[in-house]
Amino acid sequence: MISVVIPIYKSRITLVKLVEEIKNELNAIGEHYEIILVDDGCPENSWFEIVGLAQHDKAIKSILLSRNFGQHPAIFAGLEKAAGEWVVVMDADFQDNPKYISALYEKALNGFEIVFAKRMARKDARLKQLTSKLFYWLLSFFTQNKFDSSIGNFGIYHKKVIQSVLLMQEPFKIFTLMVRWVGYRTTSIEVDHGERRSGKSAYTFKKLVALGGNVLLFYSVRPIQFTVWLGFMISFSSFVMIIYHFYKYITHQIEVLGYTSIVLSILFFGGLIIAVLGLIGLYVGKILQTTLNRPVYLISEVLNIEKPNS
Ligand code: UDP
Ligand code: MG
Repeated sequence: MISVVIPIYKSRITLVKLVEEIKNELNAIGEHYEIILVDDGCPENSWFEIVGLAQHDKAIKSILLSRNFGQHPAIFAGLEKAAGEWVVVMDADFQDNPKYISALYEKALNGFEIVFAKRMARKDARLKQLTSKLFYWLLSFFTQNKFDSSIGNFGIYHKKVIQSVLLMQEPFKIFTLMVRWVGYRTTSIEVDHGERRSGKSAYTFKKLVALGGNVLLFYSVRPIQFTVWLGFMISFSSFVMIIYHFYKYITHQIEVLGYTSIVLSILFFGGLIIAVLGLIGLYVGKILQTTLNRPVYLISEVLNIEKPNS
C-alpha cells in the first residue's frame, strides 16, 4: 500500500483537483492506497472540503488539528497515521506535482528506501529562493553536512524510514532534515517544480527567518563552539598585549596613560559578553522548550481513521 501525506493550509480552492489528480496517478500504479489530508487549522475552513471528499471515499483519511501548528508538525500528524509500505509526502499547492508519484515509486522499487524529488528549477519567489539558498548554506556550514536546497519534502519513503523518523524525539520537527539524518539507501529523481496554483505562500519572510533561526539552534552547537574559539583568540591577543605593555613599562616608554583604549575595550568586551550570554540564553531557551515536553500537535477530529489515538 502507498500512503500519501499532505499538510493542508491555505490551498482550499485547488484541493479537490489535487486529490483527483493524485487518485488518478495512484490508480495508474495499481497498488492499494490511502491519502491522508491533515488540515493544519486552515483559516479558509478547508475541513469542510475535506469532509466532503472523505465521505465519498474511504481511502481519504483526514485529520483536523486543533489549531495551526505549522507544516512540519502537520506532516508528522499524517506520518503517525500512515499505514502504507511506502509513504509519499508532498505539498498541497501543486508545487509538488502528483504526476511524479509513479516515477518516484518505480525508482524506489529499484532498491531504494528514500527517493527524493529534486526540483530542477524552483518556482518560488526570488526572495524565497535566495533566503532558502542562504539558509541551506548556513546550515551546511554549521552542521558540517552538505545540504541541497533543491530537495524539499517531496519524495517517497519506505515504512522503515518513516518509523525511524518517528523515533526521533526532538520537539522541533523538520521532516526534510530529519529524513536526511536517518540514512538508508537514498537517491533522487529530477522533477519540475510548479508555480503555486492559487493564493500565496504561507511562509512570510518573518516566518522563514524564525524557522531558520530555530533550525540552526536546534540542530547545531557550532555557534557556541565559535564563541569559545573567539574567546580564546581574544584572551590570547590580550596576553600578547600584556607582554608588550609590560616591556614598554620596564623600559619607561609609557608616556600618556591611555583613556580611549580603556573605554573602547570596555565597550568591545561588554558587547561581546552580552552577545555570547544572549547566545547561551537562546540555547537555554531551547532546552526549556524541550523539557516542557509538549505534544508536537493536537488532533481535534479524524475521519476514516479507526484508532485516533494510536
Ligand atoms: N503548510 C501547513 N501549515 C502552515 C504552512 C504551510 O500545513 O502553517 C503546508 C501547506 O499546505 C503546503 C506546504 O505546507 O502544502 C507548503 O506551504 P506553502 O506552499 O505555503 O510554502 P512554500 O511552498 O512557499 O514553501
Ligand atoms: Mg508552496
